[in-house]
Amino acid sequence: MSSEGDFRVAESDLEEIRRMAKERGCSDKEIEEMIEDFKKGMTSVDSLTREERNFLKSPPKPLETTDIAGVAKYIAEGHAKNIIVMCGAGISVSAGIPDFRTPGTGLYYNLQKYNLPRPECLFTLDYFRENPKPFFEFAKCLYPGQYHPTLVHYFIRLLHQHGLLLRNFTQNIDTLEEVAGIPRDKCVFCHGSFAEAHCIKCGKEYTPKFVRDKVFANEIATCESCGSYVKPDIVFFGEKLPGEFFEKSDEDFPKCDLLIVMGTSLKVQPFASLIGMVSDDVPRLLINMEVVGAKPAPPPADAPEQELFAYRTSPLFAFNDPENRRDALFKGPCDDGIIALAKALGWDKELQEMFEAPFTPTSA
Ligand SMILES: [Zn+2]
Repeated sequence: MSSEGDFRVAESDLEEIRRMAKERGCSDKEIEEMIEDFKKGMTSVDSLTREERNFLKSPPKPLETTDIAGVAKYIAEGHAKNIIVMCGAGISVSAGIPDFRTPGTGLYYNLQKYNLPRPECLFTLDYFRENPKPFFEFAKCLYPGQYHPTLVHYFIRLLHQHGLLLRNFTQNIDTLEEVAGIPRDKCVFCHGSFAEAHCIKCGKEYTPKFVRDKVFANEIATCESCGSYVKPDIVFFGEKLPGEFFEKSDEDFPKCDLLIVMGTSLKVQPFASLIGMVSDDVPRLLINMEVVGAKPAPPPADAPEQELFAYRTSPLFAFNDPENRRDALFKGPCDDGIIALAKALGWDKELQEMFEAPFTPTSA
């Protein structure tokens, strides 16, 4: 307990206010001003006026319209201060990153000489142990520093520059986020990255440069200690996700006040389940070529209570529910969705300038 004039102020109350205000996205300055007011005239959280309580605890506003315009309005009115972006391969398509999953296109075609039983074998540890060559050839095509980030990457950076980005959870391993200038600590690389590398047998750590030099010399990176293969820390099938995925998702999603999901099939777990980790009333925007992660139309009103309950509590997108006021959809290329959103926010010029600024390929 500390005392302030005639008023006795519990430190735990101040902490509670700080916590609530932070969750609502108040800046440090706003929080300290609130604390000063509190110290001047009140003794506990219970004595906050109704208005102040509502400010601290009010749930996110529903979207006026469940489209790009509705989301832009929500952002412009200041309701979104802790935005989480989730993205997958779709946001890098326009950068020219080869899509290895599509038979007949670039990379998969190049790898046919290796007779991969399935394209997925590229990211299977058992297969890598036997034949690491296809992976290293793939890595060569994808190595950071060869591609220009897309409008989507720069839009995520803009969110950060406007102080609205809480975190960017990406499934991508192309590291275009970093090339676009999104700070490393704002990104969670859910499926790992080329930034670190380890021997698959003894675990010895290697620098990204060691692996990169081998890859571009068309050699296989082997361990100096045990002779086994060295693999960049890209998460293969059956491997554990990086610790930061679990730490940051637990920490961030309860604070999120707007979720933007782009260019992902939402088929890979546990990434896909993140969309259900925001509060039930937090608006979500999906920008994607296809509708993914959505529940069907609601059951009829006279359906069994259990069925209705299951429908209401499903964490999937509610695009097909006439009651939906939180899930917005843009069906089309990610760049198009982002251009529309940037325009609606009046950020399009800023975005275009950033995108057209001279680009220096990095040598990760
Ligand atoms: Zn080793």
